[in-house]
Amino acid sequence: MTHVFYVPHADDETLTMGVAILQCLARGEEVHLVLMTDGSACGSVHFLNGTAKCPVHEKYHNPLEERYLDGMLDTQDHVAARRKEFLAAAERLGVPSSNCRVYGYKDGKLTEEQARQVALRVENDEDVPGPKTHHTTTSKYDDHNDHVACGNALAALHEEGTIPEPVYYIKRSKWKGLPSGRGIEDLVADEKQKETIQRVCKEVYMNWDPEKGHYAVGYHSVPESFDRLLKDFTNKAHTK
Ligand SMILES: [Zn+2]
Ligand SMILES: [Zn+2]
Repeated sequence: MTHVFYVPHADDETLTMGVAILQCLARGEEVHLVLMTDGSACGSVHFLNGTAKCPVHEKYHNPLEERYLDGMLDTQDHVAARRKEFLAAAERLGVPSSNCRVYGYKDGKLTEEQARQVALRVENDEDVPGPKTHHTTTSKYDDHNDHVACGNALAALHEEGTIPEPVYYIKRSKWKGLPSGRGIEDLVADEKQKETIQRVCKEVYMNWDPEKGHYAVGYHSVPESFDRLLKDFTNKAHTK
């Protein structure tokens, strides 16, 4: 069995699907990750460049005084930093870079058709052995354009009979007020899986060492989501 996780943005794989990924690997199943967008819409670049007050360090950063490896971060640096974090997180979760595909669709503007084409390519890709299960963040309980695009694309492909029933994951900020007992499954990490997720957070998304080019972009982007993950190592999944 091969599990393909469509990751709208670098960090969704850890924040929203990390436990599921680790549980697939623990069962000896193959995992592939597909990063969909370039992450360029993320506001963290303003915090990192000091054009807005950083909520993590509670100050205005100064890339030159703080000797950022890349100096002032332009869009390209920022996109590259996010991609680097994604691949480093994947590796620590146990997914080698040979099982990661990276697409650079514009963050915030992913279309259902683009997501559909990617999923079709993966479904027909001989380097991704079958049978396959497709996973992504969901359309039903989520309002982010890129998450909705991935969710709707998989749902449509399933309805047409092209792919088996997908699994959808609900991001943490949408957990409040979810209907209980309506087919939403809690995936809870065991001790070893918790340690792995803690490592990914500490060594990748929260790794602040700008002189070496580690900018903790993930944490600067959604600090509360990481803080909540580190208090509650659960994913929420549903199929319908
Ligand atoms: Zn996302
Ligand atoms: Zn900061």
